Amino acid sequence: MFPHDPVLRFAPSPNGELHLGHAYSALVNHEMARAIGGKFLLRHEDIDTARCTPAFERQVEDDLAFLGVTWDEPPRRQSEHMHDYAAALEALAAEDLVYPAFMSRGEIKAHVERFEEEEGRAWPRDPDGAPLYPGLDRHASTKEREKRMSEGARFAWRLDVERAIEMVPALTWEEHGASPVGESGTIVARPLEWGDVVLGRMDIPTSYHLSVVVDDAIQGVTDVVRGRDLFYATSIQRLLQALLGLPQPRHHHHELILGADGRKLSKSARDTSLRALREAGLGAEDIRRMVGLPGRPAGPSEAATVRSRGSSARR
Ligand code: GLU
Repeated sequence: MFPHDPVLRFAPSPNGELHLGHAYSALVNHEMARAIGGKFLLRHEDIDTARCTPAFERQVEDDLAFLGVTWDEPPRRQSEHMHDYAAALEALAAEDLVYPAFMSRGEIKAHVERFEEEEGRAWPRDPDGAPLYPGLDRHASTKEREKRMSEGARFAWRLDVERAIEMVPALTWEEHGASPVGESGTIVARPLEWGDVVLGRMDIPTSYHLSVVVDDAIQGVTDVVRGRDLFYATSIQRLLQALLGLPQPRHHHHELILGADGRKLSKSARDTSLRALREAGLGAEDIRRMVGLPGRPAGPSEAATVRSRGSSARR
């Protein structure tokens, strides 16, 4: 499927400082790429132009260089490629697979609460715990949609996931890491669990899921290596790849580095930010030790050891 050497990428959003979890992810990713003789790319996922800044982007590059992570091409900045995502969104729209969804977050919440109260059962939620979009406007007429748009109503472009799955065969992916509950090998994608996800907004013709699959294809990414928190997102991304005719990468979801409280690290937690740790005088070897990685590998054979530890190193 990929007539070229492996290509791996690290794709953080420059909307805050990298923390120990990012350090682990970047190091595992980079060392896997080097161990298998592949290319390693850095991608700035900065579609949220309100929260992403050039200063965070510089800090990301500086922190990675400090860790000894090097990339083989100039980083791709998503905000510079909106036309690529708009083209993909238009291709889906041409197949009638997206619709303008007008319910605001507050309206969704109220709808879900009313349902739960009246029906006495829980409204379905996605793997991240957010309520699925009620989809009341999924089948609105073109006339109604145009009327609301001309009135200036806010909307997002959502995928009609039920229609979408009818257009493609059952989808799977090869998981070389593991899910949060330890599944590995051939995984069956379950995109319906996400409901009608957002694929674009009024002012930005894309979303996280759409730009990831478009970029991975454009950049020839063969192996997606990232944290287990994104394991379930792969279901939707596989669906988008199939709908858009994009190649299917292999996946390796690695474990997450958790904080002392057992929770996922966050970009706002200053004490685990790489910048703060560096300022406190820690070196790259200290960071490696903190995330459970052995000392800097000298050559490919040692890097291969790191690779196999990727899914078993302690949390
Ligand atoms: N930008 C995403 C994040 O920072 C990661 C994208 C990906 O690896 O698919 O969580």
